[in-house]
Amino acid sequence: MSRSNQQSCCGVIEEARLQVHERRVHKRQPWIVLKFAVGLTVAVNAYAAYVYVGIFCRDMIVKNQSALGSQALGIVFLTVFCILLLMVSWSYVMVVTTSPGYAINLVKKTDSPGQQLARAQLSSTLDDPPGMSYELLSPKGDPSQNASDTRTKREGRNDRLQAPSTSGKNVNLAPPAAPEAAPQEMVFVLANPETLRVTNQAPLPPENPYQTSLHPPPPMFSRQPSTKPILLPEYRYCSKDKIVKPPRAHHCRACGTCVLKYDHHCPWIGHCVGAFNHKFFVNFVQWAAILGFWIFATLLGLNIKSQRKFLAPDINPQHIAVMALSALFGIFCFLMFMTQVHLIMLNQTTVESLAFRSMKEREQATLAHMHSWYEIRAKRQTQKNWDEEWGRIDKEGNLWWLGSSRENWEGVMGKNVWWWFLPVGHGLQDGLSYPTNPRFDKQGRLRRRGEWPPDLR
Ligand SMILES: [Zn+2]
Ligand SMILES: [Zn+2]
Repeated sequence: MSRSNQQSCCGVIEEARLQVHERRVHKRQPWIVLKFAVGLTVAVNAYAAYVYVGIFCRDMIVKNQSALGSQALGIVFLTVFCILLLMVSWSYVMVVTTSPGYAINLVKKTDSPGQQLARAQLSSTLDDPPGMSYELLSPKGDPSQNASDTRTKREGRNDRLQAPSTSGKNVNLAPPAAPEAAPQEMVFVLANPETLRVTNQAPLPPENPYQTSLHPPPPMFSRQPSTKPILLPEYRYCSKDKIVKPPRAHHCRACGTCVLKYDHHCPWIGHCVGAFNHKFFVNFVQWAAILGFWIFATLLGLNIKSQRKFLAPDINPQHIAVMALSALFGIFCFLMFMTQVHLIMLNQTTVESLAFRSMKEREQATLAHMHSWYEIRAKRQTQKNWDEEWGRIDKEGNLWWLGSSRENWEGVMGKNVWWWFLPVGHGLQDGLSYPTNPRFDKQGRLRRRGEWPPDLR
């Protein structure tokens, strides 16, 4: 069996193995699993509502012996509870029934940009049929190329033949060896079309922003912003959906597809929080936190009061159960609400914020190398110097930062102030395109302050 056939066979087996693995790992969760927590949320809320209205408020309104307050108080509590429950239910229905926005419905399927370019260039250069395996492509009938192929095999340098990335992420391949190779050697670098060369000469190394004189490489102990050109289509290709993802879209494993402006997958709403339901999610956690605290505070307050006055010697166990549930529910939703407000004002999704967090952790580790633990002022000064050079990590250093918290907030929650509190309306973006921070280059890489537009420096 010839070497190219062997390579092809191994390639097919390896690809099949990967496909099985991908199917196993990235299989969409069954519908019942996805929606189970929605049913649970509704059931828990229904139980809490029954205890609050049917026992706690009813006892007061009908003046039962076990009532913990006056009839008027019962009516006030019932009215406030009904208004809050209405807001929570309305927001919940909106967030559960509004799709987060699935990229597959709005973006046409396509080959990966690397494959397209490779195919176009190979078919024009070598006149080979499109769709052929890269490993099989060799300049047939060209004695000089065959000779060089033989030489390459003999010299054991076939590791420079690189297959295209199937994940669409692995673009920044290791730079090829120095061009010591013979000029006739075939070299394929397929993952990044900018570095793609199907030529008789060794390829240029992948573009690195720090190789030009404008971008001197950062010293070892310094801030290291990401150099990934994340706006390039090959960085955004989803091999599972076979689409070039719109900016900020991510593939959700649970939903099994790419979600526009993916924030996180929330089992409590049965799908993702994304471009089109992010606003409703914020409305929901906002009202749910208020409702949780209202139930907890009123039940606890009246139970303590009645205990002091010996009006009701035994606390109703259902009151205790609902207090525990409402406290948990309220704290969880409150923390979620505060996190969401903070991130929306920074124009970061939850998944994007993780990258910033790890960058800050790396930076702390670097500072710990540079300074002793007690040199707090020196550490602050170093960080200040880095901020002078690059801008603040969360703000100027964020590709999606629009320049002010208000603008970022309105992008998600809309311009109408009523929309910030009621589950109506929509944000300002279409989920497919987002304005970018002009401090970044066209490929989505942060530049130093000196290279920012003059009015922003
Ligand atoms: Zn996808
Ligand atoms: Zn999801």
